[in-house]
Amino acid sequence: LFVPQDLAPGYGVILTLDQSRYLTSVMRQAIGAQVLLFNGRDGEWTATLTETGKRGSLLKVDEQVRPMALGPDLDLVIALVKRGRVETIVEKAAELGVRRVRLTITRRTNVDFVKLGRLDAIAMEAAEQTGRLDVPAVDDPQKLAEILDGWDPARKLVFCDEAGDARPAFQALAGSQAPAAILIGPEGGFSPEEREALRALPFVIPVSLGPRILRADTAAISALTLWQAAVGD
Ligand code: SAM
Repeated sequence: LFVPQDLAPGYGVILTLDQSRYLTSVMRQAIGAQVLLFNGRDGEWTATLTETGKRGSLLKVDEQVRPMALGPDLDLVIALVKRGRVETIVEKAAELGVRRVRLTITRRTNVDFVKLGRLDAIAMEAAEQTGRLDVPAVDDPQKLAEILDGWDPARKLVFCDEAGDARPAFQALAGSQAPAAILIGPEGGFSPEEREALRALPFVIPVSLGPRILRADTAAISALTLWQAAVGD
């Protein structure tokens, strides 16, 4: 379980009502049960369930069982698509080790999207489920041009370009290293001007994910998996 607090032997932890219900009703844990906790900074700790009731549960922290470890420094820059798909993308990105999800607004993006806390909760739940020790950040939507203006050229940007003339991802990504980022466009794809501007940037690697047009969530999962296969992490 994720707890937003320091962890050290003997510390008390009060769980949220949802976490408490999950622990006692879903997982049917009783007093004395051992729980695994992480806070995104200090690795994984065991804790003992000492009290539980209608108002929540209390744990006592025991010891660290896994030191802090971060996955590869990989971002996902994803154009806003329908809310349900954005939620799926955030969940899959968390499972696939993305450290930061950067929502972006492009020329063909439906911008009637407001980032709600739910995306952060989805990222946290996926991090808990997948056993990682950090929770991916989900940044508020930012215009693509602004993101590129402030880009650190040491971070390669894998541009998933559906135009069809980019190199196959598996070849183009051979030898890739972190830090990196993967860019996925909206339902309407990238505009010709965006494609031209992206391909002119020295840190951009255009890649094809095959001859078929994938939905943004499928493309994100495919590209993240191919990058990990190439980088081996
Ligand atoms: N413009 C596309 C069309 O003709 O329908 C729609 C874009 S697609 C739904 C959303 C995004 O997924 C694209 O902008 C691209 O980033 C990525 N994508 C989808 N299929 C791809 C492919 N075969 N190769 C590379 N990227 C792809």
